[in-house]
Amino acid sequence: MKKILFILIAFLIPVFFTQAVSPVSKSTSKPVEPIRILLVPGHDNEVWGAQYGNIKEANMTLVLATQVYNLLKKDKRFEVYITRDSSGYTKEFADYFSQHKEDIISFRQNAKQEMQAKVATGSFVQKETVIHNSVTKDTSIVLYGINKWVDENKMDAVIHFHFNDYPRPTKWKIGEYKGFTIYMPDGQLANSKESSKLAGSIFSQLHKKYQSSTLPEEIGGMVPDQKLIALGANDTLNPDTSSVLVEYGYIYEKMFRKSSTRHQAYKTMAGLTTKGITNYFFGK
Ligand SMILES: [Zn+2]
Repeated sequence: MKKILFILIAFLIPVFFTQAVSPVSKSTSKPVEPIRILLVPGHDNEVWGAQYGNIKEANMTLVLATQVYNLLKKDKRFEVYITRDSSGYTKEFADYFSQHKEDIISFRQNAKQEMQAKVATGSFVQKETVIHNSVTKDTSIVLYGINKWVDENKMDAVIHFHFNDYPRPTKWKIGEYKGFTIYMPDGQLANSKESSKLAGSIFSQLHKKYQSSTLPEEIGGMVPDQKLIALGANDTLNPDTSSVLVEYGYIYEKMFRKSSTRHQAYKTMAGLTTKGITNYFFGK
């Protein structure tokens, strides 16, 4: 009996491993179609995220993501999309959110129910990770709406841009943590494998110039997460869509406080991010 079991296991292990590895690694394949990427500058004009003094996160993410957009757009191997510009959500996205609101709500509802069923059977284990601010109802529709759009439009990658913060007594108080963090989907989520490679590729570029986070929960700078909608929580992103959420640093950090150094940081961060994305898809 033991021998049979052993043979069976010996057979199953290679099968398991070959199935787990995707047939062609993205960095070695030569895609014919352009790579489709959606850039999401975090937050918006209504709910702007973190704030230090008069500097608002939503404005920062827009400048940075727009620079990455312009850099990627120069490379014909990419087809790039962005959710917002200086006048708010682009027509494509504003229309999508308003015209498909009911569909987005049922998309979110179905995904949550399927995930709850997996949790109930034990095939998905919920973990306590970094506590994120819970999102408002409208923000949840925007974020699930983006995922639904990403699935329907077959994006190869979606990249969310953010600047970090944690509760401080006032908006002028300089906090104690520093550095960037890349959030990526938890290993149990369908799109985790490729996403972690993309995260690693962007990390290795940003780490050339910037330190990774000093917040204890973010030590190491690459953090798996199963709750962030942006990353495909409740398996709302296609398995072959890579998703990452980059927190480019804490909003009160010295380099962001002054306009000149802030703009220098955007430029450097945009260049490094673009390099990280390009290396992931086309190799170094
Ligand atoms: Zn944010």
